[in-house]
Amino acid sequence: MGIVVAIDGPSGAGKSSTSKAIALRANWNYLDTGALYRGVAWLALKKKASTPQQILTALSDSPLKFVGDPTNAQLFAGDVDITSQIRSAEVTNKVSEVSALPEVREVLLILQRKMIAQAQRGIVVEGRDIGTVVVPDAALKLFLTADLEARAIRRDAELVIGQSSSQVDIVSQSLAQRDHTDSTRATSPLAMASDAIEIDSTSLNLEETAERIWELLRERRLLGLPIVAVLGRPNVGKSTLINRFLGRREAIVEDTPGVTRDRVTYECTWNGRDFMVMDTGGWESKPNGISIGVSLSAELAMQEADVLLFVVDSHVGALDEDDVLVQELRKMKKPIILIANKVDGPTDEAEAHALWNLGLGEPAFVSALHGRGSGDLLDQITNVLPEVGGAQVQDGYRRVALIGRPNVGKSSLLNILAGQNRSLVDDVPGTTRDPVDELIEIGGSIWRFVDTAGIRRRANQQSGTDYYATLRTQIALERCEVAVVVLDASVPISEQDLRIITMVEDAGKAMVIVMNKWDLMDEDRANYLDREIDRHLDQVEWAQRVNLAAKTGWHRDRLAPALRTALNSWERRVPTSRLNSFLGSLVAATPPPVRGGKQPKIMYATQAGIAPPRFVIFTTGFLEASYRRFIERRLREEFGFPGTPVQVAVRVRERD
Ligand code: C5P
Repeated sequence: MGIVVAIDGPSGAGKSSTSKAIALRANWNYLDTGALYRGVAWLALKKKASTPQQILTALSDSPLKFVGDPTNAQLFAGDVDITSQIRSAEVTNKVSEVSALPEVREVLLILQRKMIAQAQRGIVVEGRDIGTVVVPDAALKLFLTADLEARAIRRDAELVIGQSSSQVDIVSQSLAQRDHTDSTRATSPLAMASDAIEIDSTSLNLEETAERIWELLRERRLLGLPIVAVLGRPNVGKSTLINRFLGRREAIVEDTPGVTRDRVTYECTWNGRDFMVMDTGGWESKPNGISIGVSLSAELAMQEADVLLFVVDSHVGALDEDDVLVQELRKMKKPIILIANKVDGPTDEAEAHALWNLGLGEPAFVSALHGRGSGDLLDQITNVLPEVGGAQVQDGYRRVALIGRPNVGKSSLLNILAGQNRSLVDDVPGTTRDPVDELIEIGGSIWRFVDTAGIRRRANQQSGTDYYATLRTQIALERCEVAVVVLDASVPISEQDLRIITMVEDAGKAMVIVMNKWDLMDEDRANYLDREIDRHLDQVEWAQRVNLAAKTGWHRDRLAPALRTALNSWERRVPTSRLNSFLGSLVAATPPPVRGGKQPKIMYATQAGIAPPRFVIFTTGFLEASYRRFIERRLREEFGFPGTPVQVAVRVRERD
């Protein structure tokens, strides 16, 4: 099953147009579950079926089939195309009654899950109960809302152009009625999942709403990276080329002819574009003995990849086997780049021109070993890369790092969250060196706790030098989205605690501070702790805080909500118009201080990114650090970013 994006929300919030836009852009499937319920309502009307049993019989006589092409979605009942008929007022008025029947929901639940399971890369599913019931472990859950009036106006414009305003009132009443029935029914009512992201589209148009979702998909790396396969006969320098792409020597040795090797992929970045490079082992056109596997792996690579690199050793030139491979490559109908490798200078290049004969266009002249031409080649590759590819990097589980100095109770916390007291991982090289993640369900969703082997091991041996402990923390931080910093509330906050907290802030991750060992607190210590918090933690006042006792499990249910709040803020985006009207009144009330006789003017601000929220303010002059902090503080007061660092940058533009 591919990546599932669930979009729920009330009628007329723009779910359909948004879902289709996302599915189209990602080249994913699309499922409109409302259309299925409408199909059942249409059948009920058509067959005059009133009892659940009669409706189900009508449904099994004319099974529903949804064609999920986002440019032309269709619904069939049996062989009849009912795509436009299910939009009639009659069906719309009937549908909520039919969809409230548990028998109907049960049958459609099975149908929906079947259709979702068939999606290979990804699917956008819209409805009312997708995130809560149909796909509770969807990779991304969204709840799309808008004011009733905005929804009524949009729906009205869809129905008939140019109606009087009383028409909007009628549409509005009908929407409100349907939402009420949908939200109050007993079986899987319209509801927002606790781990869904709410998007209010009242003041957003379709592009803005879709862009917001696209940003989340990209940020969470759910879109799938493009795959670039490196193909060619053995010993033409494929591995050296891959090492050159990666910019480091990553344990790849030159391939030995005839030795079967699996397709190995590496993540690569060039000019801000991420993609996967797939090493394929050698190619031989006449598979015999051990080289059959090599050919097979190359064939599979060609099918999986989005871009094909065909490497030829320019000193050897093209052989007959290369011709065979070229024919295979052509069949794929994918971008192909021909690479003449081992070209170290103009003489080699002149010779390599013979490769034009392969009919793949101009060869890219490269010396993988010395780097000649490799930058141009990478440019050429990124130019033909599709935006979304077939390599799935994430599964959608939010990534949590549990960090803190030794002895604060990280591993007891991990154990109590995982619900069982498991033994620590033995300190065996190879098992503890690799990051080990654990999937743990807390608060109704599954979370990926990254690098838990490190936690268990440190707790076990205590002796790890500071250097390695810090390195490990750094790596866990890099991989996570939200960090849980565990402190021991029963002893004074230490330098080391503060260093770890600063690391989280510097890494730009969402943060929850757990005050552990609360069971050991007495009144005296509590007073001290208050003072320590005031003194040391006011820099990170924004962090979410949970008082907890891992030993007894007290307050452990507070962790999941704190994580969610922090992550929501981390991915929050403030519309540019709201940001600027806020900034306008802030500057009017408190202008920036005059510096060197000049008063810098604040012209405009924009949110440059999320995760964490980053703002850029354009000014005519330098802004004092204190004034920047003031802006950040007011930003937080105005928009609220609990649990996430917020970065504010200033760009000075010269006045004309
Ligand atoms: O999305 P649309 O407005 O076409 O949905 C029509 C009706 O189908 C909704 O008002 C609701 O009663 C029902 N429905 C549902 N669960 C879903 C999708 C739609 O109950 N997942």
